[in-house]
Order: sequence, then structure tokens, then C-alpha cells
Amino acid sequence: MGLDLILRNARIAHCAEGLDIGIAGARIAALAPDLAGDAPQQQLDGRLVLGGFVETHIHLDKSCILDRCRSEEGTLKEAISEVAAAKRAFTEDDIYARARGTLEKAILHGTMRMRTHVEVDPRVGLKGFHAVRRLKDDYAWAIDIELCVFPQEGLLNDPGSEELLVAACEQGADLIGGCPYTDSNPHGHIARIFALARQFDLDIDFHLDFDLDASWMDIDEVCRQTAAHRYGGRVAVGHVTKFSALAPARLTDVARRLADAGVAVTVLPATDLFLMGREHAHSVPRGVAPAHRLCDHGVICSLATNNVLNPFTPFGDCSLIRMANLYANAAQAGRPGELAACFDMITTLPARLMNLQDYGLAVGNPADLVVLDCADAGSAVAELTVPLFGLKRGRRSFARPSPLLYPPTSDTIGRSAGSPHSPAD
Ligand SMILES: [Zn+2]
Repeated sequence: MGLDLILRNARIAHCAEGLDIGIAGARIAALAPDLAGDAPQQQLDGRLVLGGFVETHIHLDKSCILDRCRSEEGTLKEAISEVAAAKRAFTEDDIYARARGTLEKAILHGTMRMRTHVEVDPRVGLKGFHAVRRLKDDYAWAIDIELCVFPQEGLLNDPGSEELLVAACEQGADLIGGCPYTDSNPHGHIARIFALARQFDLDIDFHLDFDLDASWMDIDEVCRQTAAHRYGGRVAVGHVTKFSALAPARLTDVARRLADAGVAVTVLPATDLFLMGREHAHSVPRGVAPAHRLCDHGVICSLATNNVLNPFTPFGDCSLIRMANLYANAAQAGRPGELAACFDMITTLPARLMNLQDYGLAVGNPADLVVLDCADAGSAVAELTVPLFGLKRGRRSFARPSPLLYPPTSDTIGRSAGSPHSPAD
């Protein structure tokens, strides 16, 4: 077979033996131990290879605006109102420039598939949608992006929003989202989003149940409508911080309901930790939904970034490994199996959430590969392992050269360094 490149001795999550990966053009052409062939080759020495990280929930359009907003209270209400005010001054070029900087960080951390939420309403119009769509085209060499248009400030209470959502769907939005907790009629909001999704045959991704009051939840209505519209497998919900306030038996009931309905969950640890529990002066609750427990009941869950450097989350470097590590910390998920589950929630499970049919290391799939400087998935999460390089459709798309140490030699102490070497070589 005509291979263009062979990566030797790669480790793959949940696979005990080392494998060689043969690449022909843009695709994985062979996957086996000791591949024959005289194609150019690279020795990976047992390093972990994955099909790129998968980001299911990020807001490129409103990233990097801390210099334009107040963030004093650190509450969800403040974040929404501050961004609502700031976005009136957004221009398409301004959105593009900020989103590009954020996207490049994600690419450099090994993200190769991404769902970005884009705000559409009468304040910002379609500027965010047009800017991020340009970005999607311009960076297709490194990452596959899908655009989820949604009304952050409500739908039924915000005249003009639905017409703009329809316009975005007519112009090629990849899916539609909702935000019922900001609407004066949350269930009516959910119903309209399902109606629009069916009209344009799009999947749905809601922002949902984003506080710690477990006395009521919109998830029941989302599950009910998912079943009524036969939309199982096409609906995801993000945040659901209310789940963190559920006692174990009730959480199990909700998990079974989600699994039965085919509703997936994205947990956003950085934002949820930052915004939740602000009413507490001490012993602040974590407010992070226990995704790994939902997975135990068959719910498809992902961990994702959400916001970067804005009043919703004044942090962020777009590393999904960091999100997995942050989640593991907050959720007290430190056993080897739990750490590996956290890795799955930034790789294979989000790929299922997004219904990606060609993700992962398999013959025939695109040669999307990221190499990590570690041997197993649990270590990657525990140690925040940095990617070394990646291939997108067989072409090198980024590299992060290894750091070097320069120890002194006996005759050069205090003057110059000895031979450099990688840490722990
Ligand atoms: Zn979000």
C-alpha cells in the first residue's frame, strides 16, 4: 500500500499494545503493530495518540473582552448584562480578531473539532455569525468548526430575535441553541427552538438549569419535548449546575431520564465554578454537575471550555486537558478509572455528542492526530500533559517543541550551560 508517513509505536487510550499508524494522503490507511513499508517514519516511543480534542461548547464571539466590561460581583446576572452592553459596540472585524486569537490557542492545545455558540439578537445582529463563519473557512486546515446560533438574552421576550435566528439558519448555521433561563416564558422558548430545529432539520444545544436551586428544573421539559419530537440523540444541554445540588437517588433518576431520552450533557467547570454559589460568604458549593456519575448511567457527557477572558469566566487558555483536570479536581475524581473517564469526556464522548461519524483512530477516518508526551489517558489528565504536535487530515497543523533543561557541567558551573536535554530523559 502507498503510505506517505508511518508513526511508529503509538499508544492509544484503552488499548494495551503499541500500534503503528500508516497515513496515505489525508486518511488513516493502516493501524497495526509493525507495519511494513519504506515510507517516511517517525518514532513515537509509546507516546499517547488521540484523534484530536473535541470542544463542544465555547463562545469565540464574546471572548477576550475583559477590558470592556465590569466583573465585580462575579454573578451570572452581571455577566449577561455586561456582555449585553458591550456587544452593542462589536463589529464584524472586531469579533473576527478576538475569536481568531482564541481559536489559535485552542488549535495549539490540540483541539481539532469544535462547536462554537454564537449570539444572535437585535443588539449584535448577525455580525458574530458572519465573523465566526469566516473564521471557520479560514482555519479549516486546522480544525472543523460548527456554529450553533442562539438567543442569549431570551427569545419570546426579545422581539426580532426569532427573525434573526431564522436568517442565520437560512444562511447555513449548523445547529440551533436556546437559553430558556433568560426568557420570560422558558417552556415556550424550548418549544420554539424545537420548532425551528425541525423546520431546518438541525440538532439542538441548550444552555440550561444554570443555578443551584434544585426545587425546579427545565430538563424535564427538554426531555419531554425531545421524546415528543423524536429528537433523541440530537439534543445536548450545557451547564445543568442544578444537578450538583441533587441527592444521589434523585441524580440517578435524572440520569436515567437523560439516557432514555437521548439528551447529552456538557459540563463547563471553569464558568460553573466561577459563577455559582456567589450568595455564599463561606463554604461555597462547587456547583459543577457530576458528569462522570451521569456517564455511569449511559448519559453522553462532555467537558468544555465555555467562556474565555470575559465576565462569565475571566480565565482561560483553551486547553481541554486543563478543563478535564479542573473537573477532576472539583469532582474529586482521582481514581485511575475516573481520570480516564475525564479524558473520554474531551475526546470520544464529545465526538458522539456532536454526532461526528468520522472521529477517532480507525482505518478510513481522516488522519487527525494529536501526540501527547505521556503513555496513558489518566496521566494526561492528572499531569496536564501538553501536546507535542498534531496532524490535520495528514498535514502537520501545529507543534509545541519540548522544553529543555541546561544543567551545568563540572568545569562550567557559574559560567555557561552544559548539554541541554529534555526533562527526565
Ligand atoms: Zn455557553
